[in-house]
Order: sequence, then structure tokens, then C-alpha cells
Amino acid sequence: MHDARRYHPDTQCVHAGFEPDGTGAVVTPIYQTSTFSFRDADHGAGLFEGKREGYIYTRLGNPTIRACERAVAILEGGHDGIACASGMAAIHTTFASLLRAGDHAVCSAVVYGPTQTLLTGVMSRFGVESSVVDTADLDAVRRAMKSNTKLVFVETPGNPVLAVSDLAAIAEIAQGGGAKLAVDNTFSSPILQRPLDLGADVVVHSMTKFLNGHADVVAGMIVAKTAEDDAAMRKIFHQLGGCIDPLDAFLVSRGLKTLALRMERHCANAGRVARFLETHPKVAKVNYPWLPSHPQHELAKRQMRGGGGVVSFELAGGIEAGKTLMNSVRLCTLAVSLGGVETLIEHPASMTHASMGRDARARAGIPEGLVRVSVGIERADEIIADLEQGLAKT
Ligand SMILES: *Cc1c(COP(=O)(O)O)cnc(C)c1O
Repeated sequence: MHDARRYHPDTQCVHAGFEPDGTGAVVTPIYQTSTFSFRDADHGAGLFEGKREGYIYTRLGNPTIRACERAVAILEGGHDGIACASGMAAIHTTFASLLRAGDHAVCSAVVYGPTQTLLTGVMSRFGVESSVVDTADLDAVRRAMKSNTKLVFVETPGNPVLAVSDLAAIAEIAQGGGAKLAVDNTFSSPILQRPLDLGADVVVHSMTKFLNGHADVVAGMIVAKTAEDDAAMRKIFHQLGGCIDPLDAFLVSRGLKTLALRMERHCANAGRVARFLETHPKVAKVNYPWLPSHPQHELAKRQMRGGGGVVSFELAGGIEAGKTLMNSVRLCTLAVSLGGVETLIEHPASMTHASMGRDARARAGIPEGLVRVSVGIERADEIIADLEQGLAKT
């Protein structure tokens, strides 16, 4: 579909990225091959020199992977996509492409844990300085900018308390100071939020989550707005080597076909779950961007088309109540990750963030009774009934 950009995202989800391969296949097949043969020496030479279109070696390109890359690039409104082995591989490639020794980066404090560790614990070893700030506070972003700031990295809504940052305003601050803005759009997907339209330069995804949507693939994607950024990042990516597998690219492309449909149901269900939790006596606080009680609700409504599928909430009973709820749910599955069709529930203080200890959790703004639910596409009243019977035991 060569003119996919003209269509509504609902239609793009079904068709974008597909190009006929001459066999009549209606979806891009799985080209499960590591390498591609050359017709003759001149053909091979032409491919290496970039004078001919074609495939050389799967780390550098593969038809199944290209279909997935084009699809996500079209959905995000970017120049092109770079599919990666994981969301972290996409974030690593972004940092390694846009930062060098002596540069400074600004990163959201409410962010996927390994993203922050990669920047402050790994990139720091290569001479990259960073400041971790609350990007929901524009003055904090302005104050963090330095003469050598080359990248502002924002996750919105951010993990796990769903803080919302103003992308259009941050793009102005970043670019005004000579830095690029990269946005982790994993929680919203391009169906609910298009950071490049709001001024961002780069979007990254953990496709493990909503884009694939079926909890059976680990994968990532980078989409740059301009051809120059795409080319620069792709060059580094080819050396770093964190490429996706053709089978996984196929599975993500299949998942994308129902992305718009799934997001509609995720948002409807999560909204109902959030409203239910907000009235429950054992729940002290609910974090969901589409609730009027969310501190950045007006901003969320301006820059997003829906609240997304993730809700987090604080149990009044603290860590013990959290453990009891985890042990009482039946329909909700006790697991980390998010964005799949099934409802997953996790309790950071006893699970993902247990090893930090209570004091470090408090400093990181993670309450002991915080629970995160990735609301799936099951019947909303059955998800709510499961939470209700679990909460009754806390
Ligand atoms: C899961 C996640 C990542 C990391 O992605 P992987 O595919 O697990 O490497 C990055 N950012 C966000 C917001 C995530 O939820």
C-alpha cells in the first residue's frame, strides 16, 4: 500500500507497511533467512555501494522486517522505522546515536527503570552526563538544560504512576537549546499519541507491549522524523547489532492489524476499572490520565486521544494489602509487562522494586501499596469483579 499515509490510522493499522512481493501473498511472508544471494559480482557490489535496492544480510535489512518498520513509521508519522530486538535495544541505539562523550542528556524521573540505569549507569561510563528530572514540571526541564545538552528523553505517561509531560512545550525547550527530543511512546501507542506531530524528533517503542499486543514477542522500534536522523541512527544500529528476528517482525505486523481495535477496548476497560477503584474504600489513590482527578488531566486530553490501558493505584493497607491482593486475584495474571490482551497485575514493592528496599522506593516515589494493572480486553465487569473479590480480602 504505497499511499497508506493518506488513510485514517484505523485503516493504516490493517494495511500500512505491506508491499506485494510478486507471489500474490496478501501479507508479507516470514523471510526466515540470514543472508540473500547476489545475482553476480556487479549486483553484489551495487548493493554494498547503495546504488541498488535490495537485501544483503538480515541485520542490515529483510523484507519481513522492512514491512514492520514501514508500518510503525506510517502510524507514527515519521520518516522510517528501525526495528530492534527489544525496547531497550531501541533506547540504547537512540542514546548511542544521539549522544557522545562530553554531551549531556535530560531524562524523565518517572520512567522505565532500565532506561534510567542505561543512561546514568552505562552511558556515564562513555562520558555522557545526565540529569534526571520531573519532566511534568516544565521549569525543571528548563533548569536542567545546559550548553552541552544534546538529548531530552521523555516517557509519557510515565511508569508506574502515569505522570504526563507536555511534549509540545518540551520540544520547544529542547530544540531551543540545541537538543533533540526523543519520546518513549510505549504506553500510548500512535493510536493515542503522536509525539512527532507535537514536535518530537524521535519516537521509541517497546513493541513487546501494545504494538504487538499478545505477550508473545520481545521487540522494539525507533522512528525518526527526518531522513537525516533516520540515516544516522540506522548506521549506528547496524554496528550495534540489536536487530529483530524476522519471525518476531511478522508477529508484530500481525498484532498491528488490530492495534486500533485493541486500544479502543483497552481504554474503555481501563477507564471503567479506574472509576471503580476510585470509589473503593480500600483504595487511597488512583492514577489514570483520563480521570478528572489526575493532576495533568487537561494536558492529557490535549495531547492524547485516550487514557491508555494502564492504571495504577495505592492500597490504603500498604505492602501487606498489596501482597494479599496479588495472592487473591483469579482472572488477573500476576506478571510484569503490559499491553497484552490479558489483564496483568503487579505490586512493585514486593516484586519489581522489592530489592530497592523501602527507603529507596520512597525516594523514587513508589508507595508501598502501589499496584499496577495492565487492563486487557476481557469483559470489563469480569475484570472489576475479580479486583473486587481480591480487594475484599485485603
Ligand atoms: C517494557 C518497556 C521498555 C523496555 O522494553 P523491552 O522490550 O522490555 O526491552 C521501555 N520502555 C517502556 C515504557 C516499557 O514499558
